[in-house]
Amino acid sequence: MAKDPAKCDVDPVCMMDLSAMHGKLAYDFEDETYYFCSELCKDRFAKEPHKYAKKEK
Ligand SMILES: [Zn+2]
Repeated sequence: MAKDPAKCDVDPVCMMDLSAMHGKLAYDFEDETYYFCSELCKDRFAKEPHKYAKKEK
């Protein structure tokens, strides 16, 4: 558990740090909000969310 959502501003697809980025794209999946640098990454995530969603124990 325990990931502060405020610290999760990393694009899960390309791993880019988005904390300083403006206009990032948000996508909600399983009660978590993920952020992406571009439509491209968002689309990739939307197609295979389980591949990218952080579910590590
Ligand atoms: Zn990206």
